[in-house]
Amino acid sequence: MKFKPANNIQDLQYFGEFGGVNPSISDSSTYTFLSAKTMFDTFEGNADGCYLYSRHTSPSNLYLGEALAAMEGTETATITASGMGAITAVLLQLCNAGDHIVSSRTIYGGTYAFLKNFTPKLNINTSFVDITKLDIVEAAITEHTKVLYCESVSNPLLEVADIKGLAALAKKHNLKLIVDNTFSPLSISPKALGADVVIHSLTKFINGSSDTVGGVICGTQAFIDNLRNVNDGAAMLLGSTMDSLRSASVLKNLRTLHLRIQQHSNNALYLANKFKKDGLKTVYPGLNSHPSHDLFQNMMNQKYGFGGMLTIDVGSLDKANALMELMQERNLGYLAVSLGFYKTLFSAPGSSTSSEIPEDEQETMGLTDGLIRFSIGLDADIERTYTMMNACMRELNILKPELI
Ligand code: PLP
Repeated sequence: MKFKPANNIQDLQYFGEFGGVNPSISDSSTYTFLSAKTMFDTFEGNADGCYLYSRHTSPSNLYLGEALAAMEGTETATITASGMGAITAVLLQLCNAGDHIVSSRTIYGGTYAFLKNFTPKLNINTSFVDITKLDIVEAAITEHTKVLYCESVSNPLLEVADIKGLAALAKKHNLKLIVDNTFSPLSISPKALGADVVIHSLTKFINGSSDTVGGVICGTQAFIDNLRNVNDGAAMLLGSTMDSLRSASVLKNLRTLHLRIQQHSNNALYLANKFKKDGLKTVYPGLNSHPSHDLFQNMMNQKYGFGGMLTIDVGSLDKANALMELMQERNLGYLAVSLGFYKTLFSAPGSSTSSEIPEDEQETMGLTDGLIRFSIGLDADIERTYTMMNACMRELNILKPELI
């Protein structure tokens, strides 16, 4: 039977202390014990259902974690204070000094910077590869490799990872496959395709209101227990825990994710088709012209579409900046990083979210100066949005003359 992520969220029932339809918020950093023995057992990790201290976990984080584990089809999950808090904890939990990681070369700039500049200080080194070529991925694996790392749909180039193929490689070489699914919640379910650990930046589509940062790690009970271990758990010891108040608000937003993703996807597909017809270099996994369109289609949970992210290349950074400024002036969206908001957000990744990647490497991976990354909003009237965007492009001579 096809995996139904939104049903899994819908079917969860949590009630508040006094029968409230939302669970009560655990507004406490520490918890009392009736006996000293239970406190000791909890430190040893043997007192299920007991809470100790909120950096470890809290009831509010547990509710949100269980909902996201249900969405991703994993045994459980742990909530972190940011997406980077999730990514860094997972990688540092799985890798020791001397270990090696094979990572996609097109990943979020912060993750790239962590792997390129930070983990080498701990003697953990990374080979960055074209994740769409399984033979190249396999060739990069060494006897020291512990982890294969990718984004299901990559930031910002929207390359699509063949999760089944990568999972087979991971199995063959005894590696863990870690997938950051931030760009494609509900549309792609990496665990069902063979991933070991699924990560999200909750900051983006899942929370959807651009009012907080947050992250989640979805995995097996044993792995999440390891991350929370008081003696050597990276989530526990590095301290990137989300506060209960925020966790409760993210849980409430999660309940409309299925509707929002459908609208983001429908709007993005509409604009991508129009932009392409206008002769713009447009990348969107829902277009037949995307090199991994069929792969995405084979992996996806059909009803959520191809996601809300698309890119266009307008030829130069000056043109990209002029277009973004004009679109913002006309209230078509905001010149802002991040994604998953109700308004369209646009930025030029080469000089913003991917600026951690050196220019020569940006060039090798095809990250050009004129690239604009769009996170398409929930616009009720996408036809009007398109007409107004098209007018901006015509005013700035971005469209080819014969199309004007
Ligand atoms: N993963 C992806 C794909 C991202 O785009 C981002 C942020 O832009 C992150 C992870 C990091 O998340 P956060 O900003 O919540 O730490």
